Amino acid sequence: MTNTTVLISGASVAGPALAFWLERYGYRPTVVERAPEPRPGGYAVDFRGASLKVLDRMGLLAQVQARTTGMGEMTYVKESGKPVAVMTSKVLSGELEVLRGDLVEILYDATRAKVEYLFDDSIAALTQDGTGVDVTFERGGSRRFDLVIGADGLHSNVRRLAFGDESKYLHDLGYYNSVFTVENHLGLDHTARFVNVPGKTAGTYSAGNNAAKALFYFASKPLTYDRNDIAAQQRLLSNAFAGVGWEVPRLLSGIETSPDWYFDAVSQIKMPNYSVGRVALAGDAGYCASPLSGMGTSLAVVGAYVLAGELLAADGDHLRAFAAYDDRMRGFVEACQKQGKDGAQWFVPGSKAFLMLRNLTFKFMPYLPWRKLIDELPLKVGNAIDLPDYEAEAKVGVRDGVGVSGSGDRLRQPGAPRR
Ligand SMILES: Cc1cc2nc3c(=O)[nH]c(=O)nc-3n(C[C@H](O)[C@H](O)[C@H](O)COP(=O)(O)OP(=O)(O)OC[C@H]3O[C@@H](n4cnc5c(N)ncnc54)[C@H](O)[C@@H]3O)c2cc1C
Repeated sequence: MTNTTVLISGASVAGPALAFWLERYGYRPTVVERAPEPRPGGYAVDFRGASLKVLDRMGLLAQVQARTTGMGEMTYVKESGKPVAVMTSKVLSGELEVLRGDLVEILYDATRAKVEYLFDDSIAALTQDGTGVDVTFERGGSRRFDLVIGADGLHSNVRRLAFGDESKYLHDLGYYNSVFTVENHLGLDHTARFVNVPGKTAGTYSAGNNAAKALFYFASKPLTYDRNDIAAQQRLLSNAFAGVGWEVPRLLSGIETSPDWYFDAVSQIKMPNYSVGRVALAGDAGYCASPLSGMGTSLAVVGAYVLAGELLAADGDHLRAFAAYDDRMRGFVEACQKQGKDGAQWFVPGSKAFLMLRNLTFKFMPYLPWRKLIDELPLKVGNAIDLPDYEAEAKVGVRDGVGVSGSGDRLRQPGAPRR
């Protein structure tokens, strides 16, 4: 096997999931993470369709299920607090929902004994040539790896270093989004409440303890602010929701005491290729579909599985493997990104008329003949990829049911890559 050492940047979802599979296939992955430890807490993320199959193949499905948030329905209320519509948990939380921090912990625990983790560090520079990639770390020191994978999220460092400025690939969907922990002052128990005014959505959800999450979305042209200046971001959010009723002032009053804070533009990443030479991208770094898609975690887990699997299938030949990875993932990524874009108008209706239509649709959903179709749409997107059983194929030397002659355990390349 060629290309055995792989440096992965990012220890959230895609990074550790990729390290899991690479280690299992005989590679030597190293994961570098900017944070000093696996990041705890965070918002709820969900799994749909094919990603559950991947968790099952990892032997981690039961562990993730044991940490499910078990969220129920979400109620939309008017500014007066009067309920107007209900969204089912299937649409809201997918087939399985966990807190991002719980998932990160499970993936880290499943890999930490066999994978080298470098916390509190980041890649400062990388230079690739025909046989490897020279990496310089921020905390000093240089090492050479056969391959480098960027699994470092929407604002990927590896993407910037290997593919160029983020602005070339980032597509702004026209919204900002903020999440932070607040007191569960409504006593919510596995439920969520949200209020809308045109172009703005605010709400809170809790899995039934003292803490709840406050979640905000608002439509806006691109705003200029310092990404390190939290106070400035908090002012932007408070200004955007000034005058909105219901519990919004109370939720905003929790900003200053919240132990955590997330604020960013809602964006997608669209790359013409997920790799350049010996460097490839996985998860949000390569194909962020935005939180509005509800598919980011599924994409990260599935992408990691496919990338490692294609390396196995190509016996470490990175050019063949990266091309096959691109080819297999692209349709799935496009379906998830479409769902992110289409979902925006339903979650953050832009006009009073559409808001009324949205509420009426949810209100009469139980009686609508096409209810099942709407309920199952996210599942259809979640299953919009065929997942080969790479390990089984590697053992018998077949791919897509076609035997491979002459090459022992080597696998047949899937369809020509879309480049
Ligand atoms: C508010 C919000 C709500 C969401 N809701 C959902 C949902 O309901 N369902 C769903 O499926 N998805 C949801 N998502 C999306 C989901 O969180 C992401 O798609 C998923 O976490 C992607 O995983 P990832 O590993 O690719 O990237 P990330 O989770 O973004 O992780 C990137 C990692 O790289 C690290 N890193 C960054 N820069 C560097 C660097 N320079 N050097 C080293 N390490 C670095 C970061 O610290 C982080 O650990 C939501 C996202 C947000 C922001």
